Amino acid sequence: MSIRNAKDYIQSIRNLNLNVYMFGEKIKSPVDHPIIIPSLNAVALTHDLALDPMYEDLMTTKSHLTGEKINFYNHIFQSTDDLVQKVKRQRMLGQKTACCFQRCVGQDGMNAVYSVAFEVDKKYKTNYFENIVKFVKYVQKEDIVVDGAMTDVKGDRGLSPSQQADPDLYLHVVERTENGIIVNGCKAHQTGICNSQEVLCMPTIAMKPEDKDYAISFAVPTNTPGITIIYGRQSCDTRKLEGSEIDVGNSMFGGQEGLVVFDHVFVPNERIFLDGETEFVIPLVERFSGHHRPSYACKCGVSDVLIGAAGLAADYNGVARASHVRDKLIEMTHLNETMFACALACSYEGVETPSGAYLIDLLLANVCKQNVTRFPYEISRLAEDLAGGIMVTQPSEKDLRSKEIGHYVKKYLKGVESVPTEHRMRIMRLIENLTLGTGAVGYRTESLHGAGSPQAQRIMIARLGNLEHKKRLAKVIAKIDADEAEPDKE
Ligand code: SF4
Ligand code: FE
Repeated sequence: MSIRNAKDYIQSIRNLNLNVYMFGEKIKSPVDHPIIIPSLNAVALTHDLALDPMYEDLMTTKSHLTGEKINFYNHIFQSTDDLVQKVKRQRMLGQKTACCFQRCVGQDGMNAVYSVAFEVDKKYKTNYFENIVKFVKYVQKEDIVVDGAMTDVKGDRGLSPSQQADPDLYLHVVERTENGIIVNGCKAHQTGICNSQEVLCMPTIAMKPEDKDYAISFAVPTNTPGITIIYGRQSCDTRKLEGSEIDVGNSMFGGQEGLVVFDHVFVPNERIFLDGETEFVIPLVERFSGHHRPSYACKCGVSDVLIGAAGLAADYNGVARASHVRDKLIEMTHLNETMFACALACSYEGVETPSGAYLIDLLLANVCKQNVTRFPYEISRLAEDLAGGIMVTQPSEKDLRSKEIGHYVKKYLKGVESVPTEHRMRIMRLIENLTLGTGAVGYRTESLHGAGSPQAQRIMIARLGNLEHKKRLAKVIAKIDADEAEPDKE
């Protein structure tokens, strides 16, 4: 098997019997839980579209390792075309799901580990590259969903991993055996963890030699003994338990995050990709986050849905022809296409690493993500402006369906005569979902903090922006010769 369909995928997640807790209780069957199902649907779509002739160009490719046709999510980028294909795929899936579809962190993580492991081996004669190649081949052959896990819980942000009062606040090695390592710790905000068969862990911040035990990267199945997943709450999540379709806003798809605890988890030697080579932590973090930043073209796809919803709200409210309404829709589009342009640009400017895998242009990737930390907020503000206050005050679907008062809801929530009230209510709830509800986790706050908070990009922009070069350019144009310059005398 190289490309798995959605049914097989869901069955394989079911078979994992993951150790998941929600609301303080262990979930018997995560794949059947109403809060989890929409997130599973989103990942399932990445399987089904790979088998759809209309989408196979964006969703599949040929493995450089085996020559087999594979799901693009399991591919190691071999060219700038591959990087561009990823960005276009991200937008398309954002349009189809209007949520975080979770599968991209694994691809970005595998690509970062692949290129860094090659360079570590070259310096230390380790065998990490062989390990990651074997892992990627397995992932490609079985069409595995890999969850990339980087963010440790971090405790006191002013202290390094080894200085923390509790050593488990960063994932680390607690014991070494002949066959592998045993690790303790916790990864936070873990996108799609219950919908993944494997988790690929990477360190999260710069490390010094004394942090050696924290400089680890490895992959294990998500059902490995010692792993506990504590499901993350999302705003309005319990609406999914009410049985209402309209009130949920996006009843088909949704994102998923969780806290993943590693309590004495065994990692076999052949699944270790970094262990103690602290100077390679920064390249690994930078390449993973560099790859993941343009992956946020997913937000452009979600924006497309939100802009469409705002346009419909204007139509249904009867204000579509007003010039300020048209201008707001233009502004939303301009912001969205600016994000997309940056994601494409850093991909077209990608370069080959010594491993043969391609890496995006890091400066442009960081500029891309810096825009993503801002523009979805403005797009959301404009969508709320166009929707009107009714998006947060309208009655429930049950009120609409009520025999006693449903006719009042229908009558008084009507916009233009030609549009059924229910359509207007559905669009309002969709806008609410994306700006304030479960969808806002992926569209707004994740835009801010996912793939690195804004300051992380500003540090990279400062480092890569090459201000000194720009000063030299200015001196040439202004005819300032630094060598001949003398201090001004009175
Ligand atoms: Fe993928 Fe976007 Fe979700 Fe990140 S936020 S996992 S890039 S869909
Ligand atoms: Fe993310």
